[in-house]
Amino acid sequence: PVCGKMGSTNSYCAPIIGFGDEPLINLDHGDPTMFESFWRSMGDRSNIVISGWQLMSYFSDIGNLCWFLEPEFARQIRRLHQVVGNARSEDRHIVVGTGSTQLFQAALYALSPSDASEPTSVVSAAPFYSSYPSITDYLKSGLYKWAGDAHTFVKKGPYIELVTSPNNPDGYVRKAVINRTGGILVHDLAYYWPQYTPITSQADHDLMLFTVSKSTGHAGTRIGWALVRDKEVARRMTKFIELNTIGVSKDSQLRAAKILETVSDSCGHSDDADHPAESFFEFGRQQMTKRWEQLRDAVVKSGMFSLPKFTNDFCNHAGQTIEPHPAFAWLKCEGGIEDCESFLRGHKILTRSGRHFGVDSTYVRISMLDRDETFNLFIERLSGIRK
Ligand code: PMP
Repeated sequence: PVCGKMGSTNSYCAPIIGFGDEPLINLDHGDPTMFESFWRSMGDRSNIVISGWQLMSYFSDIGNLCWFLEPEFARQIRRLHQVVGNARSEDRHIVVGTGSTQLFQAALYALSPSDASEPTSVVSAAPFYSSYPSITDYLKSGLYKWAGDAHTFVKKGPYIELVTSPNNPDGYVRKAVINRTGGILVHDLAYYWPQYTPITSQADHDLMLFTVSKSTGHAGTRIGWALVRDKEVARRMTKFIELNTIGVSKDSQLRAAKILETVSDSCGHSDDADHPAESFFEFGRQQMTKRWEQLRDAVVKSGMFSLPKFTNDFCNHAGQTIEPHPAFAWLKCEGGIEDCESFLRGHKILTRSGRHFGVDSTYVRISMLDRDETFNLFIERLSGIRK
């Protein structure tokens, strides 16, 4: 396997490394390979063909505020939000980004006053997504600066609060915690999709971030989108992307458009007997339900860990009450184990320590989205860990 080093976390490695009785299981990253089996089952229905002469220009839609946004991608974004009912998109500006990672930075740029005497504070309630601090600070910007846990933020003046709902790493549904005047909110809704959580209402925030990485599993396509209420904010985000990468791959946008189209189609009724409709979200939810059951069983068998508890809610998309099944397991080591990451590494399971998420090291985050083979091996290994 090719293993590089990324930031201060574990190596970027294949999910199962080595052979024999105890290969190393890498669940440090949230690589959404679980969804491959659905897309395989779709056969050629999500294929696109791009000829050598197509999509060569920098420009996609010169009349639009976001001039590098492919109109077909915009259409499929609005259609999918309509089908799922998870966010209001009709009267919003869409800004496309190279993953929501680029859009997050575009949002910080757009929302920080350019004439402030000091950088705008950027906060999020702990445990927060481990990449927020490093992405915020890696260029030592004069515009914005990471200021840590929103729960303990007391500094006066403007701030940007990142609200991740459902949250990475712990899976809980969240709201802003500060609620002060001068505060600006960015809602990272990467996981607000029916395979992970009940869709209880149509989100209607000022700035919402989404990504195909977690919605459909196409992390490698590197496409995200922002739904933005304010025209000036959308314009500044677009400017950031223009300065950063002069737009976003058209090839990727059209691939993403086809993928979203296939997902929306899968949620409807198909009359085509050769292609019976299997809802993508139904597939995802069933898969996640099964995995969370297996995980909870393993935790009981082992007796050394605990997991968050979630409450069921009515999902407007599924039309029934369902349980949340987050993309990550936020596992706590019980019984006096201080460093859960090291403890699990001793059992050849790579996870990410709570320290990276602004809390203590008794917690770890474990990806629930790897392939069956890796997940099953993980469950087997975890069940067997005893005092
Ligand atoms: N936000 C959250 C909360 C995430 O978990 C992730 C992916 N791990 C991202 C943003 C980044 O997603 P993308 O692949 O679109 O850059």
